[in-house]
Amino acid sequence: AMERYSVLRDKPCITADHREVHLHMNAGLMADLPSLDSSGAEGVGLFRTELQFLVRNQMPKRMELAALYARVLDAARGKRVVFRTLDIGSDKVLPYMKPQEEPNPALGWRAIRVALDRPGVMRMQLQALFRAANGRPLTIMFPFIAQYEEYARARAEVDTVLAREERLGHRVPDKLEIGCMLETPSLAFAPEQFFREVEFISIGGNDLKQFFFAADRENERVRRRYDSLNTSFLSFLENIARRCEATDTPLSFCGEDAGRPVEALCLAAIGIRTLSMRPASIGPVKALLMRYSLSEVRDVIEEAKQRGEQSVRQAVMEYLRDFS
Ligand code: PEP
Ligand code: MG
Repeated sequence: AMERYSVLRDKPCITADHREVHLHMNAGLMADLPSLDSSGAEGVGLFRTELQFLVRNQMPKRMELAALYARVLDAARGKRVVFRTLDIGSDKVLPYMKPQEEPNPALGWRAIRVALDRPGVMRMQLQALFRAANGRPLTIMFPFIAQYEEYARARAEVDTVLAREERLGHRVPDKLEIGCMLETPSLAFAPEQFFREVEFISIGGNDLKQFFFAADRENERVRRRYDSLNTSFLSFLENIARRCEATDTPLSFCGEDAGRPVEALCLAAIGIRTLSMRPASIGPVKALLMRYSLSEVRDVIEEAKQRGEQSVRQAVMEYLRDFS
């Protein structure tokens, strides 16, 4: 299958109505990095740093992490890598951390909540990232930010670590970009200042969808109950895209839906023009997107909404079928 798509590999993803959609890949382990070239991804839109912590039986040391992140940046050869700080808790429990007994771990003490309450590990991780960059550009993203204040506090941690690095005489990144994931509905309604201040936003569709519909992504009985192309959800995503446009905030989407061609087409049509997905999805997504016009798909979505349909899937599928 990869071969079928290899002719597209080095081509930009331009739709039939001349819109460019930027396709990045998700990664988490060193073994993922060769896919950056073979998939034709523009960069790593989500590097899940917790995977490195999950495959060990003890907390990695700062210098080990720095060496590892340096190898990631080396392998990326100048392509942008978005390092997401540790996203643990919920479904991702570190074997060497005291397990928390929580009735609802997905709604519990996880990700940035842990990092802000016990900042030691994130500070160590930030320091490792700065040492790894060693003057090169660096992009950092915080997971599970639910309100503006959490972003501001996480950002203050970065500034503190950065100032210490400078005092110690270490090189700091040439260019530092700090963004966050939008994976709780609350953040979509954050004050304007948040959207102006954050340097980029990436929608974590897996979590965002589970909280939007109150349907546990780990629970087989409910996880497929609500369609990702549900009109309410798409309207919600569109609202996020409008807020980002109004403040010139770069927006991407990095949940699993970004790697499903029809979903990816709809996301691009409602204005989300950067998608990050597993490497094997880049070919199929690009092949589909290049055949269609986003403005036409957008009209199909709008009409399905006007008719009061629960999901736009059927309408979009019919459009794709008739078109070809
Ligand atoms: C998400 O929630 O969509 C996401 C990309 O993060 P993760 O799947 O690691 O929770
Ligand atoms: Mg998530």
